[in-house]
Amino acid sequence: MEVQEQIQKEILAAIKEYPRIIIHRHQRPDPDALGSQVGLAEILRTSFPDKEIYQVGGPVEGLEFLAEMQPVEDALYKGALVIVTDTANSPRISDERYALGDKLIKIDHHPNDEPYGDLVYVNTKASSCSEIIADFCFQFPDDLTMNQEAARLLYGGIVGDTGRFLYPATTPQTMRTAAELMSFGFDVTQLNRELDQKPMSVAKLSGYVYQNIHVDTNGAGKVMLPQEVLTEFQVVDSETAAVVSLPGSIDEVLAWAIFVQQPEGYYRVRLRSKGPIINELAKRHHGGGHPLASGANAKDLAEVEEIYQEIQQLCQAFVAEK
Ligand code: AMP
Repeated sequence: MEVQEQIQKEILAAIKEYPRIIIHRHQRPDPDALGSQVGLAEILRTSFPDKEIYQVGGPVEGLEFLAEMQPVEDALYKGALVIVTDTANSPRISDERYALGDKLIKIDHHPNDEPYGDLVYVNTKASSCSEIIADFCFQFPDDLTMNQEAARLLYGGIVGDTGRFLYPATTPQTMRTAAELMSFGFDVTQLNRELDQKPMSVAKLSGYVYQNIHVDTNGAGKVMLPQEVLTEFQVVDSETAAVVSLPGSIDEVLAWAIFVQQPEGYYRVRLRSKGPIINELAKRHHGGGHPLASGANAKDLAEVEEIYQEIQQLCQAFVAEK
């Protein structure tokens, strides 16, 4: 804990030192990526009105109600402090100019597989990176000020990464932090609705997922979403986020993968588990993530089958141990 406090102080000192701060997050952002990135940006804007604070990265893909990105010229990176939130490995950072700054800080809650940056603050016990940013702000009340918009973004990030406070990473601290954020008076009902809302096409795809999931006797689940299915249901890759957690509510499912074929032919693999640890498997297939929620890639159907067999083995071993 003391080490963490020391790093938090060093991060605050760096923030105070630099007049220009540019904040990045991971590609294909989810609510926690945007919440932690722009939540931090809002806190810094309120706390240090004289500093230049930027949020940069690729398209926000359907999460425009949370935040938009800003255009930043290359020249602005000279002499700037760059902070990256919610991103375990440097290839996943959205906008590779993150490396052009004067100093780099990583703030994250994923396993610290690649400790890039001059300062690294990783807390894998936190439910979300948004929880880390909120706690960081509340830790230094003399220096950092929360505002309503930052609270909205950070709350949205926590709701997103905990599956509305359902997943096991939700702790008493998560609830305390969420309660504190809620007291800033943003419209919680509207935010929850925006996070939950889906187009009819995705609702219909949910039906397809339930109808077509294959589950073995040990609870290993597999859903294939080839390009033909995405086209038939008129959904794009980013919208599959809304169906990834669905198999978890089925009694017979223990761990599962949704294989989403990309226009180039390869498959994006979205892995989830109610018990067996799946992030080592993800790492073996060009991915990574949390013990119970990871992502990977399969170059073809042979690798899809390989990954599914590995999930089956994990489920089998898990069931045998019980
Ligand atoms: P997703 O299925 O994309 O929602 O990802 C679930 C978790 O796995 C997230 O916490 C991601 O950070 C992580 N993840 C997904 N894809 C990758 C990847 N290619 N490399 C490393 N981590 C990943």
